[in-house]
Amino acid sequence: MLEFLMLEDRDRIFLNLHGQRDWGLEGARRRGAWNGTADIVAQEPEWICDQIKASGLRGRGGGGFGTGLKWTFMPKQESARPHYLVVNADESEPGACKDREILRNDPHLLIEGCLIAARAIRAHTAYIYIRGEYVHERERLLAAIQQAYDAKLIGKGNVHGWDCDVRVTHGGGAYICGDETALMESFEGKKGQPRLKPPFPAGAGIYGCPTTINNVESIAVVGTILRRGADWFSSFGRPNNAGTKLFAGSGHLNRPGVVEEAMGVPMRTLIDHYFGGVRGGWGNLKAIIPGGASTAMITPEIAETVVMDFDAFREHKSLLGTGTMIVFDKSTDLVKAIARISYFFKHESCGQCTPCREGTGWMWRVMERMATGEAEMAEIDMLLDVASQVEGHTICGLGDAAAWPIQGLFRHFRHEVEDRITQYRAHRGVYASALMAAE
Ligand code: SF4
Repeated sequence: MLEFLMLEDRDRIFLNLHGQRDWGLEGARRRGAWNGTADIVAQEPEWICDQIKASGLRGRGGGGFGTGLKWTFMPKQESARPHYLVVNADESEPGACKDREILRNDPHLLIEGCLIAARAIRAHTAYIYIRGEYVHERERLLAAIQQAYDAKLIGKGNVHGWDCDVRVTHGGGAYICGDETALMESFEGKKGQPRLKPPFPAGAGIYGCPTTINNVESIAVVGTILRRGADWFSSFGRPNNAGTKLFAGSGHLNRPGVVEEAMGVPMRTLIDHYFGGVRGGWGNLKAIIPGGASTAMITPEIAETVVMDFDAFREHKSLLGTGTMIVFDKSTDLVKAIARISYFFKHESCGQCTPCREGTGWMWRVMERMATGEAEMAEIDMLLDVASQVEGHTICGLGDAAAWPIQGLFRHFRHEVEDRITQYRAHRGVYASALMAAE
């Protein structure tokens, strides 16, 4: 197993990840939230952006774009057009379940982060767009925001010296509204369909005004980073892959859950140490989808040595994504599993662009026939060809997201599909002979 120094408790940002402690203001204060916030907010926006850039924080929603750098794209002066911060709490990717723990167990870290990020981009309003299905999380978040208003930590004339309202709005349950342009459309009450960029949100976002959109975790960590220093955060992980991060494990694990660890933790350490190991032991592992359903699966051999960061998964033609793995043991019918994921993306396609609208449905139907074995052998290459035609030829990333799981399956488990087709044909031959003999 790879050598790795586990994260010490004193270096964890999320100290109530599993909800054993008080989620409210008093509890959050005891854990360090809202401590020294006024001193941070008193700094110039450039200083805050520079510190976050120096910390190496990259977006935790899957894209991995530099958070501090993103903030610098906003106009440097306030004008008649207000600036907005929008927090993307739409967490709809199958397998992704990490932001939920922040929203319900440590909401004050997120609210404090909203105030600081708003100062960094010269905004006076932050909107948190939360997925419709997160009802309990929304109620908890609203209660925490009310606590912050009552204590004058946010809002007009707050004790920190930077006026900032924090509002919550929720979606209607569409995966595609996690795409930042679709999110903005949905936020404005329109149909949640992605649009082409440019214009980028920093130029024309919600209500046509400069807007920055960040993931929940990206915003919730900024208070602690600025309290403890950019050097502290960047001391974890490898260059270009810095900091601590929430990782989740679901599927065939003995103890599925969400944990915080340093970037660069070996995948196997995460599974064995935190998630209780694979059901039936490591030898029973068949495949892992590493970062949400859209990321290409990897084999046990790769999982044995890969570390959890952005660059490591690229080397294996997959992605860290949200860092939320789905583990499959040997009882899994992988072809059927990917057919089900294909159905999800077909169902969630907004239908605007032809390769996605037609391609996702076509790929799903072929995958269903691959799962039963009824497909023709020649259809495997045809399916991969169509997947490559969908990938990179659509308005938003859903086309890619639909193609990658299929490509991952055939990259590593093509033989399983071929065996199934062969067996089906053999059975059909036997059945036909028996019929003929009976006649
Ligand atoms: Fe809509 Fe799919 Fe095109 Fe995205 S890729 S805009 S979901 S049709």
